Amino acid sequence: MIAMDENDISFFKDGLRLDGRRADELRPVKIEVGILARADGSCYIEMGGNKVIAAVYGPREVHPRHLQEVTRAIVRYRYNMASFSVEERKRPGPDRRSYELSKVSREALEPVILTSFFPRSVIDVFVEVLQADAGTRTAGINAAAVALADAGIPMKSMISSCAAGKVGDTIVLDPMKEEDNFGQADLPIAMTPNGDITLMQMDGNLTPDEFGQAVTMAMKGAKDIYELQRRALVAKYSQISTDSAREEVHLCE
Ligand code: UDP
Repeated sequence: MIAMDENDISFFKDGLRLDGRRADELRPVKIEVGILARADGSCYIEMGGNKVIAAVYGPREVHPRHLQEVTRAIVRYRYNMASFSVEERKRPGPDRRSYELSKVSREALEPVILTSFFPRSVIDVFVEVLQADAGTRTAGINAAAVALADAGIPMKSMISSCAAGKVGDTIVLDPMKEEDNFGQADLPIAMTPNGDITLMQMDGNLTPDEFGQAVTMAMKGAKDIYELQRRALVAKYSQISTDSAREEVHLCE
């Protein structure tokens, strides 16, 4: 762990960040679709040091029943951080932070889910953080959106999420843990591919100019992530259609 505080100017070395990235560069992203046999849809994502699984169940019957909505499905989202996912063991179970992250993540996804197709039912989204390195809410939302698509939940569009931050007076894309914890600001967003924003939060201080730069940078990052989400889904489903075409050929033989 690198010891720093926000007055420390060593966030950059030779113009690059501590992990060797440029200011506007994402961490490496890996997305796998359909990794859990018992979920209706699932996704595993790595964004830099973050390792996150999302599992979607439903639409299914609501329990407890009094939560049912007559005209639409309800969406539940549970963000959970494993106690071994962080440097200093996290006490297991829900806490103020996980309630907040569950709420804002659900609100980031709900606007694109066609809930009116499934009255009186529930769509459950579980997000499990296995390894955390700042940006777990954005990684969770990205994985959850892919898992919803994998579950065949009708959606108006995909949702992609990314943060920008400010460290050493510079706006940077996708802050890692040291930058997030000791930086000057953090601004996670989520959006549709058209740029309609469904989540925007901010920690710290930014001038109006810096705020504009950070939003533009985070939106560019989310756009790049959208392309990776799309490719991961196409890779899974084109593989399945190739496999079933092979099976059909086999049956005809
Ligand atoms: N973190 C931690 N212990 C905690 C909560 C967070 O070590 O109990 C770390 C973890 O790496 C996390 C980062 O701090 O990813 C930033 O947390 P934040 O609340 O800003 O959410 P995130 O950036 O993960 O969405």
